[in-house]
Amino acid sequence: MCGIVAYIGNKPAFPILINGLKRLEYRGYDSAGVALYENSGLNVLKKEGKVAALEAFAVDKASDSTLGIAHTRWATHGAPNDVNAHPHLSADGSLAIIHNGIIENYHSIKAELHDKGYAFESDTDTEVLVTFIQDIRDTHNLSFEDAVITSLSKVIGAYAIVVINQDNPDQMIAARKGSPMVIGLGDGEYFIASDATPIVEFTKDVIYLNDEEIAIIQRDGYRITNTSNVPLIPSIQKLDIQLEALEKGGYEHFMLKEIFGQPESIADCMRGRLNARERKLTLGGIREYANKLVNAEKITILGCGTSWHAGLVAEYILEDICRIPVEVEYASEFRYRNPVIKEGDIIIAISQSGETADTLAAIELAKSKGAIVFGVVNAVGSSIARATHEGAYLHAGPEIGVASTKAFTGQLTVLTMIALKVGYLKGTITESQYGDLLYELESIPKKVAQALETDKRIQEISAKFKDATNCLYLGRGYNFPVALEGALKLKEISYIHAEGYPAAEMKHGPIALIDENMPVVFIATRDSSYEKIISNIQEVKSRKGKVIAIVSQHDEEIERMADFTIEVPSSHEALMPLISVIPLQLLSYHIAIMRGCNVDQPRNLAKSVTVE
Ligand code: GLU
Repeated sequence: MCGIVAYIGNKPAFPILINGLKRLEYRGYDSAGVALYENSGLNVLKKEGKVAALEAFAVDKASDSTLGIAHTRWATHGAPNDVNAHPHLSADGSLAIIHNGIIENYHSIKAELHDKGYAFESDTDTEVLVTFIQDIRDTHNLSFEDAVITSLSKVIGAYAIVVINQDNPDQMIAARKGSPMVIGLGDGEYFIASDATPIVEFTKDVIYLNDEEIAIIQRDGYRITNTSNVPLIPSIQKLDIQLEALEKGGYEHFMLKEIFGQPESIADCMRGRLNARERKLTLGGIREYANKLVNAEKITILGCGTSWHAGLVAEYILEDICRIPVEVEYASEFRYRNPVIKEGDIIIAISQSGETADTLAAIELAKSKGAIVFGVVNAVGSSIARATHEGAYLHAGPEIGVASTKAFTGQLTVLTMIALKVGYLKGTITESQYGDLLYELESIPKKVAQALETDKRIQEISAKFKDATNCLYLGRGYNFPVALEGALKLKEISYIHAEGYPAAEMKHGPIALIDENMPVVFIATRDSSYEKIISNIQEVKSRKGKVIAIVSQHDEEIERMADFTIEVPSSHEALMPLISVIPLQLLSYHIAIMRGCNVDQPRNLAKSVTVE
């Protein structure tokens, strides 16, 4: 994980680097640091904690240097503290590095370097790498550039690195393998970052570095080479992100902005794709292989975390509407399990960031066995978007809050559109069902806006449950994955232990937990399992559990049973997850705020999970 930013140009680097780190802070925030090129040496300033702590500490120690690198860390090797924070200097202090990823064979390299007499200050794999580069340069009398290339050829693992050199005020060297990296091409200046957000206010021209590529950036130009130093012709792309999308826009937190932005982000996702009146549903990114989807004998969906939950909803929809068997897999398990994948098998990979390391590796594995892979991704130009055969973007705009909200509903929207298209082409739904579902889908943004009106009521309910230590989320059918997602939201931002379960499974275990202190959130909107879930609510009430129920409007029956109800508008049951998840997002947000938690940057989490 972690965010990296680097700058070389004609302006003081420090403010650009600090602002860039703030944009990237969603990627990691346990410590941060900068290294500035100065005539007297490389000035490294690092601090445990958030970027704001680094800024306060460094502001009067930073020079006007126009070359610098910066990092916000998500620790993998060594505790989050000042010493382990990046940048790291090589043993002789001549090189400084920032690194995103894990050097898997750092142990053996470190032992080798130890034997040669090198000492290390930190516990990180990163410090080993930069000293390794120095050692290779000095031992073999190589140029800086050749030393970087040679050392990387001996390294196992994932990295995006930028290295600067005290002997050269005009150069930085960047390389990537498995971790994202974007280069911004400005007017007499260059930027490097983990994503485009630190770059967008300066230039729209970017190069997405590919795996095993190296960028040599000079003040007067740049070169991209492969690992054998053969020059490559990069493709320059235009960024399509607006600066406002990266600001809080008057909301207290990014998460709240993103929750309330869902009527718009879902509409954006459907814009130009869906027109119910004209019965048009076009997914531009899925054309060439559309037939493969239609004729699929089975679909495997891959994802992690919230994306995996979106995959579960898609399983219900694809099986229901398209009559295709679906398996939903944790990418992290799939990739190490020797999965049975044959030539021509169909995979759908879901990832907000498009950089999730496990999902990316699972895609590569599936491709190596001849599978056709479709991507459902938010970040345009990301590694997964590029690694897949075809796919559809969410167009939800940048999601900055670490707990995913609008990306989840964007994923559901895209997956629903895919299912409708396939079901229609396959003839597994009738013309009239198809038409009705298109209208229903089109009306979702309006219904999500109505669901957001429950905010006040949810604040009142949150105040009653903010001190809970455990919480159960139960749902059936389409609302079962919503229960999982609700529980995940609560635990990730409020640190309350929460579990999601299919409501019927409660009696096989979790019911033992229920007493008067156990809040149970039911997603109990009127659908085909409505009667059954009412029985489950009774079972909880009989054991004195506290019931919060998400219900359809005017549901007097559940209102009589539950301690609290939250009413949401109705839709076709396949589309209900798009609506019923909204109050759960708000519930977790308000409870977390009331508990004093940092909702945008919950402890130990990072948004873009680029490590295994
Ligand atoms: N492995 C490095 C460390 O622990 C980098 C981790 C990251 O990507 O933030 O410092």
